Amino acid sequence: MATRIQAGAVVTMDDNRRICAPGAVVYDASGILYVGDPNGYEGPLDQDLVIPEGVVLPGLLNGHNHAAMSMMRGMADDSPFFEWLTQHVWPVESRMTPEDIRIGTLLACAEMIRSGTVGYADMYFEVDQSAEAVEQAGLRAWISRGLVGLEDPDAKKLEDSLAFAERWRGRGDGRIVPMLGPHAPYTCPPEYLEKVARAARDHDLGIHIHLSESQDEMRQMAERYQKTPIQLAYDAGVFESRTLIAHGLYIEETDLPYLEGMVGGVVTCPVSNAKLGNGILPYHMLKEAGIAIGLGTDGPTSTNTLDMFLELKAMAWLQKTREGRPEGFHAVDALWAGTRGTAAVLGHAGGQLAVGAPADLIVVNGRAAHMTPEWDVLANLVYSAIGSDVRYSVVNGRMILQEGIITTFDEAAVIEEARERAKRLMEG
Ligand SMILES: [Zn+2]
Repeated sequence: MATRIQAGAVVTMDDNRRICAPGAVVYDASGILYVGDPNGYEGPLDQDLVIPEGVVLPGLLNGHNHAAMSMMRGMADDSPFFEWLTQHVWPVESRMTPEDIRIGTLLACAEMIRSGTVGYADMYFEVDQSAEAVEQAGLRAWISRGLVGLEDPDAKKLEDSLAFAERWRGRGDGRIVPMLGPHAPYTCPPEYLEKVARAARDHDLGIHIHLSESQDEMRQMAERYQKTPIQLAYDAGVFESRTLIAHGLYIEETDLPYLEGMVGGVVTCPVSNAKLGNGILPYHMLKEAGIAIGLGTDGPTSTNTLDMFLELKAMAWLQKTREGRPEGFHAVDALWAGTRGTAAVLGHAGGQLAVGAPADLIVVNGRAAHMTPEWDVLANLVYSAIGSDVRYSVVNGRMILQEGIITTFDEAAVIEEARERAKRLMEG
């Protein structure tokens, strides 16, 4: 079933960063069949959508999330990090049921679909329930259970992760990709990281890990092991499999040899990093070293929203600030990170509108007051657009947001149920 969308502009994010204005995209469940001039497609069509006010772009890919933490959004926001984690997050998490996780994930999916995200990399627990939610919602997800080595002496949770991977690999028409999620070097000692790295190689799984996120972590690792987190992960064999490094703010020049030739890359979460006062990614140093750089939100407790359009802005603002000059970072670099960059980290063929790529795309209303006029469509998308400008979303050729309405589940019922469940969690 081939669908054509004709729109005011098509921003491809292909290798040439081609923009067609006006333009058209044709797709079916197998992928994108055509991108270009509105009248250039000659094949048969089952559906033809004409959206003159629309700007079509590849769906955004959120490279780092803890989706079900949506249930704790806004909780104890301005507390010091360790107080927040130990006195607020952990007690509530200990009361969360598998069904809380499923509903929390659906709540996050609703927010992501509405704001243009087509796929995300997640790390949390009760992963069967979060995978079920994703399967229903119609998004893509790279799902890992967060592994805390200090609480897993007999590696039972690692075994569970491998069993989860067996159960879910390729499910949802290939939309669900299991990974292994050793939380961080300060929660996973070196011997445990080695075990996870070996399991990843044996079972052909990618690794999702927080590394070099805060100065505290850098100090702790230096005191405990006389190593940087990157060196520690390298020595444990982590980088012998595809690795998604969440944050990487404090990667140093001396770390670069350990990352040389790595498969995967770094995902930056600028809003979380700014809100927690952690720092700014050394973007140019990593880019010059040839390391793929993706973009993510982090969990909704540290970022509050999962709106990737906000991350595009924050990335640009912070990088310009770090550089001390406006030309130090361009709008297209931010959009690249949120599409092709995350795709490169994950080894995914998406993040672009090109023939043969997966049919994952969004349509933004380009004629809102804050998107007018159109001197530069890329500047408008990065510096002006907000998540609620997204009107359509297609994942794997299926329309999961149509004229602003989610087609895969009852959003209002999920919001209502999340409110009720969160009330119970607040009461303790
Ligand atoms: Zn995180």
